[in-house]
Amino acid sequence: MFIGHFGVGFGAKAAAPKVSLGSLFLAGQFIDLLWPTFLLLGIEQVRIDPTATKVTPLDFEYYPISHSLLAVLGWAVLIAVSYQLLRHYRRGAVVLGLAVVSHWLLDAIVHRPDLPLYPGSAYLLGFNLWSSLSATLAIELLIFVLGVWMYLRVTEPSDAVGKWALCVLIAFLVVIYLANLFGSPPPNVTALAWVGQAQWLLVAWGYWIDRHRRPVATMIVSGRISDT
Ligand SMILES: [Zn+2]
Repeated sequence: MFIGHFGVGFGAKAAAPKVSLGSLFLAGQFIDLLWPTFLLLGIEQVRIDPTATKVTPLDFEYYPISHSLLAVLGWAVLIAVSYQLLRHYRRGAVVLGLAVVSHWLLDAIVHRPDLPLYPGSAYLLGFNLWSSLSATLAIELLIFVLGVWMYLRVTEPSDAVGKWALCVLIAFLVVIYLANLFGSPPPNVTALAWVGQAQWLLVAWGYWIDRHRRPVATMIVSGRISDT
C-alpha cells in the first residue's frame, strides 16, 4: 500500500485541523519511512520477486522493528508523546498516534501473511488483498480519494502555492503509484531502499503545502464561537 497511507494523512486533517499535513504524512507513513534505513543497515530483509504477488514484487522476509504490531504500537506512542511535548495539542497527538497504527492495519489488509504480531512472533498476519490487482486498486484509490476530499473540505488555499503545490502533489502521488504498480521491479534492494528514503521529500512537501493553506472560513467562524 502506498497512496492509501497518504489518503489517511490527508483525511486526518479533518480530525485534527491544527496539525500540519507534513506531520500527518509523517505519522501515516512512519513505519515505511523507517523501513528503508533498516534495510540499508541490514537489520531487516526483503527479497525482490516479481512473482510474489499480483501487485508488488516484494517478499517481506523480515521486518519486526518497522512492521510488527507491538513495535508499531511503540512507534505510535513515541510519535504521540513527542508531538504532545512539542506542540501541547492533545487531539493532534492522539490523531498522529492513530495514524501510525492505521498504517499497520491497512498493510494487514493488503499484505500476504508476513506481518508479525511482535518481534520473533511465529504467527504472521495478512489478508492478501494483493492477490487481486483490481481489488487493491479499488480499495486504495477509494481511501486516497476520500482522504483528499476530506482535506479539501476543511482547508482552502491562502495563496497560489497552496493551490498548485497541492494539485501537483496529488498528481505526483498517483503517477508514482501507477508507475510502482505497472513499472518494472526495482533492480536490487539498495535501489529500493534509496527510493524509499525519497519519501521524506513527500513529508517536506506536506509541510510546505500546509503553510500555504488555512482552515476553511466556516471552520474559523465555528472555532471563534466555541472559544467564547
Ligand atoms: Zn508498510
